Amino acid sequence: MNLIDTHCHLYSEEFKEDIKEVMKRAMDNGVSKFYLPAIDSQVINDMLSLELEYPGICIAMMGLHPCYVKENYLQELSIVEEWLQKRSFVAVGEIGLDFYWDTSFVKEQMDAFTMQMQWALDKQIPIVIHTRNAMDKTIQAVKPFAEKGLTGIFHCFSGSKDAARQVVDMGFYLGIGGVITYKNGGLPEALENIGLENLVLETDSPYLGPVPYRGKRNESSYLPYIAAKLAEVKKLPIDEVAAITSANAQKIFGS
Ligand SMILES: [Zn+2]
Repeated sequence: MNLIDTHCHLYSEEFKEDIKEVMKRAMDNGVSKFYLPAIDSQVINDMLSLELEYPGICIAMMGLHPCYVKENYLQELSIVEEWLQKRSFVAVGEIGLDFYWDTSFVKEQMDAFTMQMQWALDKQIPIVIHTRNAMDKTIQAVKPFAEKGLTGIFHCFSGSKDAARQVVDMGFYLGIGGVITYKNGGLPEALENIGLENLVLETDSPYLGPVPYRGKRNESSYLPYIAAKLAEVKKLPIDEVAAITSANAQKIFGS
């Protein structure tokens, strides 16, 4: 079984002590590729070092996460832009809107999101979207870019059935993570009319551990729990879930 973790922060502090073991456990469990979303300029060095240690296996994105859009966001964005010019990245991410923790920078978040979507469009690379308490606004913001050919992933999707449909109709994919294993998460219902051809798998490590690791540090070796739950929900063999979601990831990222 070949699985791809399309969203994991394996460069973060939580893995400093045992990243080699974490990587080995994941690969032993069939995870062959790990896509690393950027957060802000603080993490770039660690992210690129991990990529260098696992060439072709750990693959970096570049972007400014909405929760890190603050007073200095234009300065942060100039660092993102500089990196996007300096070398190639598989995607711009993670970017988007988060009105859950803090709404003091709504305008700036929207500005940062729009600018980064334009860069992705210019570079003809996909985006990886983080959205929380802002699904409708996010879809509205993405739509004009999607019409121009931009594609990507709504990471850690946990929206409604209607939102799932709108995302898929824009040509975007839904990133399925630990939430699918949560009781009352509502995700199986939201995915009722969505086929595997629109889904990719992710852990969002170290966050959002799937059951039975909910609340613990999440790691990519737990991805099979998510694949298994999705297989159960869709009433399909897990091998098929693995094959199709991995093919989707390859198609989105191109490498
Ligand atoms: Zn993330």
